[in-house]
This record gives sequence, C-alpha cells and structure tokens, in this order.
Amino acid sequence: MRTKETANNERKATKTTNRRKRRITWFNPPYSKSVSSNIGKKFFDLLNSCFPPNHKLHKIINKNTIKLSYSCTPNIKQIISSHNKRIIKESSNKDSTTKLCNCRDKQSCPLQEKCLKKSTVYQATVLETNTKKIDTFIGITF
Ligand SMILES: [Zn+2]
Repeated sequence: MRTKETANNERKATKTTNRRKRRITWFNPPYSKSVSSNIGKKFFDLLNSCFPPNHKLHKIINKNTIKLSYSCTPNIKQIISSHNKRIIKESSNKDSTTKLCNCRDKQSCPLQEKCLKKSTVYQATVLETNTKKIDTFIGITF
C-alpha cells in the first residue's frame, strides 16, 4: 500500500523531468572592431518590422525567442600564421618520409641524391659521340 508521501514524491519527480525547454534561436554575427553601427538594435528593429505582433510567425520569431551574441573570429595574423604552420608541417613531413632520389646508382646522381625534389631547375650538357655535337638541356622537376 502506498503512503501519501511517496505518491507526492513520485509526482514531483515526473514534474521535474517533463520540464519544457525554451526554444531559442541564436544570431551570432562575427565581431569586428571597425563596425560602428549598432548591429543589435538594427537586427531587432528588423525583427519588429518584418514580424509585427499581427504576423503569423510572430509567435515563433520575436524578441524572446531570438537572442543575439557576437561570435569571435581569429584576426588576420592568426589566420595567416596557422595557414603557414600547416603548409610548413605538410612540406616537412613529405621531405622526411618520401625518398629524394630514384637513381639506380646513387653515387652518380647529377643532383647530389636530390633528383626528386620539387621545383628544381637543372641543366645538362650532352655530348653526342657519333657527330661530336654538344647540346644543352634545361628542365624542371615537379
Ligand atoms: Zn637521383
């Protein structure tokens, strides 16, 4: 048999679990020091003019359901330095893991065992033994 107190406790427990969550939509414009206009006021003025109290969406979109907060963005120095860091990390990883030379005889590599290195401009002078003609070739590695 249940006592009155335990029934009350159960009712309290169910009451707390069925709490209604507030449905809030956030507007997070990125903050900029150079912007002098009052973005918050302009935004809520727009809300009032676009969704007036007699509008059918006013129940969903009003000053109580829409909140505004600035979002922070990294400055240009942070963006550039993180980009540079990533590129340097990638290129240093490639250099250490991939081989630099694919010549059969490493000692006779014309570029000191770095013939697979990217963006290397090289020039070769070739002597043709039959015609005794000397030619020069210029190339670039990719
Ligand atoms: Zn080589």
